[in-house]
Amino acid sequence: MNNIKNNSLVHTPLKNEMGLDSPIEAISRIDKKQLSALHRLGIRTFRDLLYFFPVKYAGASTTASISSATTGEHVILYGKISKLKTKKSFRGKIPMAEATFTDTQGSMKLVWFNQAYIARLIQNDSLVKIQGKITERNGARTMQNPLIESVSAIPELNTGSLFSQVNQSGETTDIPRGNFVPIYRESQGITSRWIYHAILKMFKMDFFQNLEDSIPNDILRKYNLPSLQSALIWIHTPEKESHAEIARKRFAFEEIFMIQLDRQREKMKLRDAVSYPITTAEEKVQEFVDRFEFDLTESQLGAINDIFTDIQKNIPMSRLLEGDVGSGKTAVAATATFATVSTKPKGQMNGALQVAYMAPTEILAKQHFESFIQYFRHMPVSIALITGKGCRKFPSKVNPGGWTNISRTQLLKWVANGDIAVVIGTHALIQKSVKFKNLTCVIIDEQHRFGVEQRKKLVKKHEQVPHLLSMTATPIPRTLALTLYGDLDLSILDTMPSGRKPIITDIVTPHNRKSAYEHIQKQINEGRQAYVICPRIDLPDEESNPSAILTVATKAVITEAKRLKKEVFPEFNIGIIHSKMKPDDKEKIMSEFASRKIDILVSTSVIEVGVNVPNATTILIEGAERFGLAQLHQLRGRVIRGNHQAYCFLATDSEGETAIKRLSALKNTRSGFDLAELDLKERGAGSLGNGKQWGITDVGMEALKNLKMVEAARKEAFNIITHDPELKSHPLLEMALRPRKEIHFE
Ligand code: ADP
Ligand code: MG
Repeated sequence: MNNIKNNSLVHTPLKNEMGLDSPIEAISRIDKKQLSALHRLGIRTFRDLLYFFPVKYAGASTTASISSATTGEHVILYGKISKLKTKKSFRGKIPMAEATFTDTQGSMKLVWFNQAYIARLIQNDSLVKIQGKITERNGARTMQNPLIESVSAIPELNTGSLFSQVNQSGETTDIPRGNFVPIYRESQGITSRWIYHAILKMFKMDFFQNLEDSIPNDILRKYNLPSLQSALIWIHTPEKESHAEIARKRFAFEEIFMIQLDRQREKMKLRDAVSYPITTAEEKVQEFVDRFEFDLTESQLGAINDIFTDIQKNIPMSRLLEGDVGSGKTAVAATATFATVSTKPKGQMNGALQVAYMAPTEILAKQHFESFIQYFRHMPVSIALITGKGCRKFPSKVNPGGWTNISRTQLLKWVANGDIAVVIGTHALIQKSVKFKNLTCVIIDEQHRFGVEQRKKLVKKHEQVPHLLSMTATPIPRTLALTLYGDLDLSILDTMPSGRKPIITDIVTPHNRKSAYEHIQKQINEGRQAYVICPRIDLPDEESNPSAILTVATKAVITEAKRLKKEVFPEFNIGIIHSKMKPDDKEKIMSEFASRKIDILVSTSVIEVGVNVPNATTILIEGAERFGLAQLHQLRGRVIRGNHQAYCFLATDSEGETAIKRLSALKNTRSGFDLAELDLKERGAGSLGNGKQWGITDVGMEALKNLKMVEAARKEAFNIITHDPELKSHPLLEMALRPRKEIHFE
């Protein structure tokens, strides 16, 4: 789905003519190192470069000096670095680097947390350029985790602009039209300035003069949005701030509009598709849920009703079930499964309609398998588990009441001939070799859009399109849901099962850390278990590739586990789990934790959010201020499952009032979706995490603060698709939506 980004540009060049799809190396002589830097930045074509928007604009003052910058301002400063050294934070927990930075006006301290390697990258007493936010600590100015790079000389700043310097070849370089200097993300070998000049060059090329705008004119006029060309010029070379703003607005609209068009078109296609209607009688479904050991909540009943209504039709269901961790999605999934497998396939006396239930991880797939056995053990329904590691089947002749291991070949055979009705698994489930006889319903747990793409894969192999139930506990705001899931109907579980004790949430500062540890000690002595989550790792842009983050995060987990064992809990068993571990090792640790061989599990924040260990009642989250509220909420969901009182400790070193106040919201708010809205309102789209995980760019994410804009984009897309489902009279849009060949050699 990444291919619907940056798509307003659809000019196709003639042979040998430079155009949007020309490779970036066509713009000027580029050496290998530069080219790979451009690729790292995601710039491969002219189009990519034009859509590589500034991360911000610096006016003259913001590149001046320590004394002229105001607290809270993002600035670029040039100066000398000294007293560079590494150390541990005062509790010996976080490795850090610090240094003194001096410019013509004064000096201040720089600190890098979790980035001790900075000290190795930069030479003491060298000239550097730093970039970051000025903050104040104990009355003195400082910068935390600034981006830093060595420079050979300090540029003249009195002329007011970085760009008014003389360049290497002796000519004066272009001065931006206004006072706003665009600042682009950089990578080793490519500077912000290089990008700026490449874009100016592109503006002068023929193809740029002839760009066609794929957004219809009447839509632009209706919402007062600038044309494509103006918007590109304004975003890269604004004369005033308002120009940049309105240009960004246009691109934000464009991105959301394109996503909406794509989703609406998918939805339209499904309207013509055929699925297998489920004819199981309502009374039978009622009987099934009456057997549960609990009463369904209002919202569970509502969701089951929505689903039941959908699957009786012969057009495929496309429904998203949104509900916090612990809201009881599995029971809803089991009921949908029951309804499906209780309908006989047409013209068949034996066999059943089949359900595929896909989970994101092996651990979760196993848990679903176990709980489905409980839900269906009174019925003659066969259930199988398929993961990369092996296959299981229930019921079993050799193990009455339980499951047995079977070979993959055997499983594939029974799935293909329809003997196995319910197949639960990881993505091993959608491999080519897995063929279903009567696949009628696909249930996907926690896969976001991914799930919808995967359904398409499943669909191709079968004549009928299966019903889709996609489930998520990832709390996202309404605007994001509307955008991502524009093609899905929504059911929401917004009431928690009754009788569940709300989790007690508390904030841990350096002052009361000891009592938090005492609490954990007491809990474990009472037979409970605990999680400790290490902080989210932020590396400077250039370092922030997934593998660098993983490495640093892994180190943090190992170090923290050692420290806890040595200094805090020598009497307890402490285990670690992180994404760099092999699946087998993860599995082993999780089962040791589940069987209480491990008292405290130290992990990164990315591990298996839905894992169910009811005896784990406390979670301590380090560096809590670095997470979005919704993410914190999701993490604390790990301890919400048992009957014991659960506790969540949010540890922060920041004693700033805003951080504490923000974290306090978690004490009183129980809905992850409310917290996501709150984060969006207060901290902007950045707090929702990286838009890339949803296939949305930074600019697109900006639209999410604006419900009106998202609704407008949705409405316009809907209008177009309703009247012109194949976009025959909108060839530019049609072309923009076409998957572009993505060439990635890395
Ligand atoms: P999730 O939405 O996170 O997938 P689960 O389906 O795993 O939640 O349910 C969490 C726990 O709550 C399970 O142990 C389940 O049996 C229980 N549960 C589900 N629905 C109800 C209910 N209506 N009342 C009481 N307990 C429930
Ligand atoms: Mg679940």
